[in-house]
Amino acid sequence: MRLLRTIPISTGDPDYRRRPTTDYYCVNCHKPLDRTKRHRLIHIIDGGSLVLHPDDEHGYRSDNADCGLHPIGTDCAKRYGLEWSVEA
Ligand SMILES: [Zn+2]
Repeated sequence: MRLLRTIPISTGDPDYRRRPTTDYYCVNCHKPLDRTKRHRLIHIIDGGSLVLHPDDEHGYRSDNADCGLHPIGTDCAKRYGLEWSVEA
């Protein structure tokens, strides 16, 4: 099996203290996001501990630790490096 490129979720220095006030928000900082405005999506796997590189999606087999794609604000996405997310 080919190794998938992943980085720890801690790379983005997530801050979950803010309680989400809307049903669509940045996964990294919980600030509300507007679906119609520019933002990104990040694929979180391994029960929430890793980010999967978008170029390795084809090699990833979803399992019960797959947390799926989550919206992320552009500023937070930059903390991982924009190559680790895709445009929504
Ligand atoms: Zn954010």
